[in-house]
Amino acid sequence: MLTRMYCPKCEKTVKRERLEEIRKELKDRFESTSLDEGICPVCGTSLIDVSKRQEGQSAP
Ligand SMILES: [Zn+2]
Repeated sequence: MLTRMYCPKCEKTVKRERLEEIRKELKDRFESTSLDEGICPVCGTSLIDVSKRQEGQSAP
C-alpha cells in the first residue's frame, strides 16, 4: 500500500518510501524525529496524508 505525504508549503508530494529514507538519514545525522510526527524535514510544515483523499490517481 502506497502512502504519500504532501507538503503544502514546498508543494511537493513525497512517497512514504522516500520519507522513510529521509527519516533514517535525519535520525542518523541529527537525531531528528520530525518526520515521525508528520513534519516536513525541509520547512517544518505539517504534512498532509494524501492517500486518505482517494483521488484514484496513479503514481507519477
Ligand atoms: Zn516542506
